[in-house]
Amino acid sequence: MFIMSEDSQRTQGRDAQSSNIMAGKAVAESVRTTLGPRGMDKMLVDSGGEVVITNDGATILNEMDIEHPAAQMIVEVAETQEEEVGDGTTTAGVIAGNLLGEAEDLIEQDVHATTIVEGYHEAAEIALDAIDEQISEAAVDDEVLKQVAESSMTGKGTGGLTAESLAETVVEAVRHVESDEGVARENVTVHTQIGASSNATELVPGIVIDEEPAHDGMPTEIEDASIAVLDVELGVRTGDVDAEYAIDSIDQLNAAIDAEESEVQGYAETVAESGADVVVTTEDVDDRVSTFLANEGILVFENVGSSDTADILSATGATRVGALDDLEEADFGKADRIRTANFGDDDLAFVEGGAAAEAVTVFVRGGTEHIVDELERAIGDALDVAATALASGEVVPGAGATEIAIANKVREEAAGIEGRKQLAVTAFADALDVVPRTLAANTGQDPIDALVDLRAAHDSEGRAGLITDGEDVTIDDPLEFGVVDPADVKREAIESATEAATMIVRIDDVIAAE
Ligand code: ADP
Ligand code: MG
Repeated sequence: MFIMSEDSQRTQGRDAQSSNIMAGKAVAESVRTTLGPRGMDKMLVDSGGEVVITNDGATILNEMDIEHPAAQMIVEVAETQEEEVGDGTTTAGVIAGNLLGEAEDLIEQDVHATTIVEGYHEAAEIALDAIDEQISEAAVDDEVLKQVAESSMTGKGTGGLTAESLAETVVEAVRHVESDEGVARENVTVHTQIGASSNATELVPGIVIDEEPAHDGMPTEIEDASIAVLDVELGVRTGDVDAEYAIDSIDQLNAAIDAEESEVQGYAETVAESGADVVVTTEDVDDRVSTFLANEGILVFENVGSSDTADILSATGATRVGALDDLEEADFGKADRIRTANFGDDDLAFVEGGAAAEAVTVFVRGGTEHIVDELERAIGDALDVAATALASGEVVPGAGATEIAIANKVREEAAGIEGRKQLAVTAFADALDVVPRTLAANTGQDPIDALVDLRAAHDSEGRAGLITDGEDVTIDDPLEFGVVDPADVKREAIESATEAATMIVRIDDVIAAE
């Protein structure tokens, strides 16, 4: 009796398990060499020839176009990690891969999948306790925030900018959006600008949009701006021009032209008299209107896109107006300053000190598109970790120290666990060793020797990481060297890696429709 289509494919038992585990491991393996300050970059080329150069785990896995369903689950680990805490994607993927590797060995030794799953879950609980024990006692002040931001950017392509200078801007940005209600990370945007000869970064106390003045003669800077946001075409509507005029004398033609002139003049005067000194409209502005408004010292942006318009509305508190007759002061938004600037082929407008929102923009300039894209990802991660650390006030030592401490505690507690589950708990500890081992391998060290030395230093000093400082690699206290990660990044990595690995291990039947 057939209950499935004859075309569907079925793999069962050990075969299903090992093919899933292999696929999951392979994905995790693919990001291994990018981990840490000496991690290498990957160049990803899509079918259209589009090139992405990155060191970011989530980006790599996203771009890889992975089809195998089990492998896809590891990609989801990285995605969840990115969404929840914004960093630690490579770490999470690499841990998940090693949990699978260890599970494979256990299955070989006839440990049942359910026992592995139970053991891994129990070990993950111990791991979370171990993370709590590692939380630094020092208050999370600007100095620590800077360290968190810098640690997340070390080894990333930051163009000609140092991680240190970027970290300062990042900390300034998250401090700016901090309030009693928490840290409004969503109010910080990164705006990148390609092609500037010098690399520079600047914190704009507001938003940056790709817009230019409607007329060359307009002011490029307005202080204490009153902003009118319109959905109105300031000119003779294109539709009207097509209308047929029955003109059979020069007088009538002149009358028609006069009528048009005075209509246009009317628009310009209405706007000028409204008291707004900046006008933003989603529609066209007639050249005659622009010239008139330029003479009046009014700055106009025309054909502004919907997303820029939305940003202006939320930053300045303006209300959109659909008809010129309805324009009144109550609808105006306010900003401390609006200025425009030209960067090569691009014109940008800076809306600073908007009355309605505490938005800030990290404005970064870099040489090429690839540099700028990777910079944007690195700064995005740094903003995420700084915001996470500031919100929770919890940071742990980086450079593999926390993973060594977790593995230690899990091994200790494993001793008290009965039966074969103990093997699974111990295997979990072994899987965590992959982080310091990989950091060592990526700095050209022998991973086994480094692990042995790290454990010894951890036992004698209580805290030890494999610290990369320029060309030097030393074993020391990461907190002293300022290599710190938010506790939440480590927690999330443990949780999402455990979840994905146990889910994959539990599958013993794969039924695929053709
Ligand atoms: P992920 O995607 O997991 O964040 P990264 O490539 O950003 O991967 O590497 C993060 C790891 O690098 C963390 O374990 C962090 O503690 C470590 N790290 C950061 N800076 C240093 C440093 N100077 N020395 C050693 N390890 C570092
Ligand atoms: Mg990182």
